[in-house]
Amino acid sequence: MQEKQHTVGRFAPTPSGRMHLGNAFAALMAWLAVRSQGGTMLLRMEDLDTQRTKPEYAQLLRQDLQWLGLDWDTETPCQTNRTEAYIQCFEQLQAQNLLYPCYCTRSQLHSVNAPHTSDGTYVYPGTCRNLTPLRQASFDRAPAWRLKVPDRLYSVQDRIQGLYRENLAADCGDFVIRRGDGAFVYQLAVTVDDGQWGVNQVVRGVDLLSSVPRQMYLQELFGFPQPEYAHIPLLVAPDGRRLSKRDRDMDLGVLQSRLTAPHLIGILACAAGIIDRAEPVSPRELVGEFQFSKIHKDKICLKLSKTYDFL
Ligand code: GLU
Repeated sequence: MQEKQHTVGRFAPTPSGRMHLGNAFAALMAWLAVRSQGGTMLLRMEDLDTQRTKPEYAQLLRQDLQWLGLDWDTETPCQTNRTEAYIQCFEQLQAQNLLYPCYCTRSQLHSVNAPHTSDGTYVYPGTCRNLTPLRQASFDRAPAWRLKVPDRLYSVQDRIQGLYRENLAADCGDFVIRRGDGAFVYQLAVTVDDGQWGVNQVVRGVDLLSSVPRQMYLQELFGFPQPEYAHIPLLVAPDGRRLSKRDRDMDLGVLQSRLTAPHLIGILACAAGIIDRAEPVSPRELVGEFQFSKIHKDKICLKLSKTYDFL
């Protein structure tokens, strides 16, 4: 009989503001998925976007996780300290002739001719795929770098959302892995980081489900095994809006002044479907209750009254 692999999961927040309810929900689910299997929990600050992220926010995130009672075994290097590793992977793809420079401007990419995919992104039509060296030399701006994608169907059996499939050529197109200013993009960084730290379980928000085929393709190219995926539903306000960092009343600073951590954990665990009633509970007490099959698939509406009672 095959021995079950030791689970390695992670929470990978972007430190671009105070942690909010949606992040706390993702952190709790990722933590429970790991702890219920006696696995190893990693924390990684995804600070690729240096315009929006700040070390102070990363520090607050760590404090907020501690307040919630969610620990981690190792914090792996933040992405701004990983440039060497990304460059090596980039050069590997370049050596395999899988990359090409793209000179398209934002307005060209947004042009009406480009078909839109369901998540609002564009299928890149391959405009720069076959430019001659002479044509490439005629541009006076630094190019972004795109990865050529195969005309192949990528399927994932998500533990919460079920089957998700995408043909990379038809539904996504060649995608950018390094921007014109030299910065690496999320898809490359997350695949390399998860792969190099042996992450074999990824639990995160459903908004990232459509990234999986791109990440599967990159895993294949770099020889990383495919992790198990579980994409948790979005938390939405009563009017259907996605809760975001703009909802300041949902950030942990405000919530901490009105609720205890066990109270908040109980609310989130009940909203997820893990327990039946939103009673105060610690994350440790939930470990035995956790099962992927209990987690709701569809978006979850959290109704909050003026007194911070969740209804
Ligand atoms: N950094 C991403 C976020 O905060 C999550 C990335 C991931 O879990 O793959 O939304």
